[in-house]
Amino acid sequence: MIRRGKLYIVGNWKMNPDTYDEARHIATVVCRSARSAQRTVTTVICPPAPFLALLARSRRPICLGTQDVSSAFDGAYTGEIAARHMRSVGATYAIVGHSERRRSGDTDTTVREKTLRSLEAGLKTIICVGEESRDDHGAFLSFVRNQLLEALSALPKKHCSDVIIAYEPVWAVGGNYQDALSPDHIHQMVIFIRKVLSELWGRADAMRVPILYGGSVDLENAKRILASGEVNGLLVGRRSLDATEFSSMIRYAATI
Ligand code: PEP
Repeated sequence: MIRRGKLYIVGNWKMNPDTYDEARHIATVVCRSARSAQRTVTTVICPPAPFLALLARSRRPICLGTQDVSSAFDGAYTGEIAARHMRSVGATYAIVGHSERRRSGDTDTTVREKTLRSLEAGLKTIICVGEESRDDHGAFLSFVRNQLLEALSALPKKHCSDVIIAYEPVWAVGGNYQDALSPDHIHQMVIFIRKVLSELWGRADAMRVPILYGGSVDLENAKRILASGEVNGLLVGRRSLDATEFSSMIRYAATI
């Protein structure tokens, strides 16, 4: 097994919870496990942007990430949120190319621009890739390869150490927890993604890029995936809002 280094447990809260008080409560509970695990686990929470700015006011043993950034640097883009604005209020991570953003219109070109804006702003950038569906002929592999090349080919190499890949098969995001991809299949995708990254950046740099799995992760399948999926961590959606369950994932990751 390849030495994995620190594991990442990343929570994507999407458009939840309802209030800042609830957000603060979840963050406070998660912080207890994050603190005890921090030597071996990096915990990242990606809350809605207004909550991020407020949560960042207190020092916590967790990192904060934005769920998206604008593809523009500045200018007349009403309602957009610039990467550098998120950096300025305390974000150190960003998710780009999430399937829910792609479904709302982000193309591969948009994802490439967002990736660049995010990295230029100094954010560690979690780029989501994943096929819509699986087939028996390997077309899904070409699809994922293309997403990676589109997002990364034009990237100055100096940024590669701030890139994190989240493999999130679209059909598994927001689905049934029993339908999350099996650890064996996840391991195959990790090997495949590293191969594509090696073509771009060479083996040594490709081996250093953390690769996460996301798609209907709960505590039960998280344990199996972390133990034998050969991933560097997890991107967790719905279950990251359950402070107790998310905390258990962090504590489990610390035992690996
Ligand atoms: C996600 O939002 O990235 C995600 C994987 O969601 P869920 O865990 O709810 O499938």
